[in-house]
Amino acid sequence: MKVRILGCGGSFGSPLAWGKNGNIDINDPKNHRTRSSILVKVNNKNILIDTSPDLRNQLYEAKCTNIDAVLYTHVHSDHTSGLPDMRAMSLINNKIIPAYMPNDMKSEMELCYKYIFKGEKDYLPFMKIIELNNSFNFHDTHIETFKHNHGSIDVQTYKIGKFAYSTDLKKFYNSDIEKLKNLDLWIVGLLRYDPHPSHAGFNQILDYIKYLKPKKTLFTHMTALLDQKELISKCPQNVEPAYDGLEIEL
Ligand SMILES: [Zn+2]
Ligand SMILES: [Zn+2]
Repeated sequence: MKVRILGCGGSFGSPLAWGKNGNIDINDPKNHRTRSSILVKVNNKNILIDTSPDLRNQLYEAKCTNIDAVLYTHVHSDHTSGLPDMRAMSLINNKIIPAYMPNDMKSEMELCYKYIFKGEKDYLPFMKIIELNNSFNFHDTHIETFKHNHGSIDVQTYKIGKFAYSTDLKKFYNSDIEKLKNLDLWIVGLLRYDPHPSHAGFNQILDYIKYLKPKKTLFTHMTALLDQKELISKCPQNVEPAYDGLEIEL
């Protein structure tokens, strides 16, 4: 399995805008972050988690010309609004691409992207919605998922083998955190150092890491308040910020 960080920025990306650099060293390319998404290559299939507004460029940079399935974490636009760019993936490969999503985001996605899922006038649909189960197989790959809290809404954590992806995390429900024990890689959202109403702060995320002890942890969904080098200096061993284009072989 290979995991590529397509983007690891928060909803604004990083930097915020020209001359709006927050705390980051603008000369460090690793501080330039597009919106959060990953590509998982597993058992000869390309699985995309979320369609960020930067999707077209992210797939271009990755030299990716085929997506076999999309898994959605939640409906927020920084995780969904690149969806129209999937049309190229459908056209190139002449196929309708499955989009796995939780039931609670289905109606909004169908409403916002009717032409994509149902077709419109001269345009045929190019994706189909598949309702998410807690545990399912996509071809030869077993995928598990459960909801975690993100303030007023929930987000899906996805687990494939000993890898898990938990973006936009405020807290876990009940004993769900136990499902993330014995990971080789955990990619987890860290918006900024301070807690946010919908995102856990640095200390809480570190507490989760200390409890779970993944072999490696990477941060994603980072704002321009988090400088790569400064953040690395505060991290324990085997914990570090991701950067766009980073690939991890598992
Ligand atoms: Zn987000
Ligand atoms: Zn969100």
